[in-house]
Amino acid sequence: MTETKPYLCPKQSRMNFSDLGLSAPLLSAIEKAKYESPYPIQVEAIPALLQGKDVLGIAPTGSGKTASYILPILQLFQKKEPAINRIIPVLILVPTRELAVQVAEVANNFSRFLGRKVKTLAVFGGVSINPQMMSIYGTEIMIATPGRLLDLLSKNSMRLSEVEILVVDEADKVLSMGFKEEVDQILAELPKKRQNILFSATMEESVEVLINKLLHNPVKIEIEQDEIAPELITQSAYFVSNEKKGPLLRHLISTGDWKQVLVFTSSIRTADNLVVKLKKNGIEAVAFHGDKSQGARTEALSGFKAGRIRVLVATDLAARGIDIKFLPIVINFELPRSPKDYIHRIGRTGRAGSEGEAISLICEEDLHHFKVIQKKMGRRVEMINAEKLEF
Ligand code: AMP
Repeated sequence: MTETKPYLCPKQSRMNFSDLGLSAPLLSAIEKAKYESPYPIQVEAIPALLQGKDVLGIAPTGSGKTASYILPILQLFQKKEPAINRIIPVLILVPTRELAVQVAEVANNFSRFLGRKVKTLAVFGGVSINPQMMSIYGTEIMIATPGRLLDLLSKNSMRLSEVEILVVDEADKVLSMGFKEEVDQILAELPKKRQNILFSATMEESVEVLINKLLHNPVKIEIEQDEIAPELITQSAYFVSNEKKGPLLRHLISTGDWKQVLVFTSSIRTADNLVVKLKKNGIEAVAFHGDKSQGARTEALSGFKAGRIRVLVATDLAARGIDIKFLPIVINFELPRSPKDYIHRIGRTGRAGSEGEAISLICEEDLHHFKVIQKKMGRRVEMINAEKLEF
């Protein structure tokens, strides 16, 4: 099993987008989207994909992986006639609704600058199936969570028998969420000859099984430690009793005059309780977790992004796949179970070259676990004894 290194922010590489084989309309779309130079994963993945090769990317969110496959796919369509049927040529499988929406945003963001627009559709569960079914006609890039895709297939609303490109994004998450069987059912619908792309933050056994099933002589891209700029995230911790975590959090928010804080809890109940307490103390906060409807989650996220909500209290559902530009502060109100999740959580800040701060509230019972996290991460985190502070 390969251990994930903390991935915090890609350094800009020296290559230019114009060195990667992208056409003039794409280069102009990239310029309009204000990407100055390609990230390392893009430098390697874009030429390989343009040559029709399979690609395996061991890279988490934040590496720029989405554009690394979306750009070559959009280029491919510039030479094709628009689709006038329900036969899907590009299928992108993702684990969550949030990632589906995010990938569609990236595709649309570039596509709107192109002479030949490419119809992209995100389909996911938790919302009514009918509008999605009615939008399928003419879709060229379908981004789907596995369960909803199978529902749509069972209603004969499209064909996957001519898929030319398959992307499995965050494959480790797709499998850890229990979608293995669904993925197998989907693969059975696809033609044998196609280009395959797989991204995963980690390489556990189940991912390797899928890789062997899916990829043929892939170009393997792994983001190395020296391509990471961890100095952009300042990590610190407060040693504090469980009962005083809430007051300390409120104290930190007000004294630091923080305007946008993402707080992680390990349970839905703690998240909800914390929101009640913060609101009682005049701090605008909203909970973001699996018990919330899709509508409530979208609203919470957009309110938070727009700065209307000061504190978003989330469970690990939000640790992956959510891209909030320039998020300055992440708080671990409770530690996550695995070091991997800790890295994903703090990776929500310090993105796209901006500076970030990650603070963990550690009580007596967390001490050992926090040591394990630091060891795995290969970094020591300074701890302040909050028991000595007045708040
Ligand atoms: P991703 O790993 O695909 O979620 O991308 C992480 C973030 O980096 C997103 O906000 C992208 O818009 C941004 N991004 C990706 N590639 C570039 C680039 N070459 N230059 C600047 N920003 C980028």
